[in-house]
Amino acid sequence: MDTSAFDDLLEANRKFAESFTLSGFDGVAHAGVAIVTCMDSRIDPLGMLGLKPGDAKIFRNPGGRITPQALEALVLGVHLLGVNRILVIPHTRCAMATHTEEQLHEEVGRKAGQDASWQPFGVVEDQVEALRQDLAKVRSHPLVPDSVAVGGFVYDVDTGLLEPIG
Ligand SMILES: [Zn+2]
Repeated sequence: MDTSAFDDLLEANRKFAESFTLSGFDGVAHAGVAIVTCMDSRIDPLGMLGLKPGDAKIFRNPGGRITPQALEALVLGVHLLGVNRILVIPHTRCAMATHTEEQLHEEVGRKAGQDASWQPFGVVEDQVEALRQDLAKVRSHPLVPDSVAVGGFVYDVDTGLLEPIG
């Protein structure tokens, strides 16, 4: 495999490994935290909560949505990995909430130079309403016990603050 596209990252990795301190670490969430949030590069899931590597399970996808895969991760987190607090965190100015499916199909199709209309993107029309529905999916899941705290928050990418959503 030609790794030249990754040279800078692999060089950084060698430096990272020189002072690697996570060896022998278990895979438990030490702060009991699981985070579901967007893939957006403006989000630092650990940093925004004052956490460090080892503290939390993190699941990311476009929009920070509760998908079947997110539920799979949360159930494993709760029962096998010490999770007792779940935060679902979409964010302001998210492309998944500021575009329509048609707009994304058009934009991606134009950049790809081919039809993209067959690719679903799962955009949301009302971000807060979508978050409430996602929270309900977690809270009502038969394998997520009532003892687990489930909170919804919108992360403001301009201030760094989390706004709780009931
Ligand atoms: Zn986003």
